[in-house]
Amino acid sequence: MYTQLAVLALAIGGMTIATAATNKADFGKTKEGAPVQIFTLTNAKGMEAKIMTYGGIVVSLKAPDRKGAMADIVLGQGSLKAYEENNGPYLGALIGRYGNRIGHARFNLDGKEYILEKNDGENTLHGGAHGFNTKVWTPKVLPDGGLELTYVSKDGEGGYPGTLTLVVVYRLTDSNELKIDYAATTDKTTVVNPTNHSYFNLKGEGNGDILDHLVTLYADRFTPVDAGLIPTGELKPVKGTPFDFTKPTAIGARIEQNDEQLKLGKGYDHNWVLNSGGGKLALAAKVEETTTGRVMEVLTTEPGIQFYTGNFLDGSITGKGGKVYARRNGLALETQHFPDSPNKPKFPTTTLLPGQKFQSETVYRFSAH
Ligand code: BGC
Repeated sequence: MYTQLAVLALAIGGMTIATAATNKADFGKTKEGAPVQIFTLTNAKGMEAKIMTYGGIVVSLKAPDRKGAMADIVLGQGSLKAYEENNGPYLGALIGRYGNRIGHARFNLDGKEYILEKNDGENTLHGGAHGFNTKVWTPKVLPDGGLELTYVSKDGEGGYPGTLTLVVVYRLTDSNELKIDYAATTDKTTVVNPTNHSYFNLKGEGNGDILDHLVTLYADRFTPVDAGLIPTGELKPVKGTPFDFTKPTAIGARIEQNDEQLKLGKGYDHNWVLNSGGGKLALAAKVEETTTGRVMEVLTTEPGIQFYTGNFLDGSITGKGGKVYARRNGLALETQHFPDSPNKPKFPTTTLLPGQKFQSETVYRFSAH
């Protein structure tokens, strides 16, 4: 049963900044018996996002095409049970404590070595086998209709030092933006690199592959990887390579080229070094789908973005609409600090000290033309 929690129009100087009706419903219980809720955020333009407390997962996101027709443009599953049984691809989830990989599942901090969980060969991926994507977050609906989710990760969880409190706020604005704010504090020196792992298909989830989507990445360099997808440390210019997305380019145009980096990633699965340098909200990526006219722009304060073309989607998940998710049926644009930063002193730091506050913001902005 739905409960109306907040219907608010916040007007500042005549400009509406965030109107959201946010409703709550039960979404079942985890295997351990913890109750999970799903929140529905809507805006004045008819967009709708459904987000659940398990993993902070964006379960669905409806956006208009050029005729105003809404479609659900993120990959997702139909029940909590389905996510608990198989969310290997991290569909829609909040990722922590550390997004992407840390090499050999270890790092040094203040002269001490920390050993993490290996869940990707020799490496750790997305915080380990029991990352924040598997936790039930504590929800709170904010006065402006935003959905705040909090997770407190204990000292030592996943091998990471320090009790880390991560607060994530999702907002659906009247400018057709899904805005995500992240804030973290710790009681001991630690590392942190949260992100969201939504997979987009601007034709609508379940409507085939994303190879014809046109992508622009506002990045002149990327971080090449080794066979375990750990950055080598080099910041390589994209110019003259299939990694040059400085102009709108179809994902499929070069994905099968005989390129060492493409072979290692089985397609695109790399971190781009954003020209903005991070620290201020700036355009990071743009995706256009010409049959529906849908456009998605990604803005972030983060210095990097992982562009992942769903190379490991293998048909083992049947989505919420009854269609099988096959290879490259969705693309992820994960705003982040660079993978393996704890072991790469030259990369922007992911270290968080007690008394400091980690803050970042990412906006997925939708339009159609
Ligand atoms: C990684 C991929 C991985 C995927 C999760 C991405 O962020 O870069 O290698 O397979 O997440 O399934």
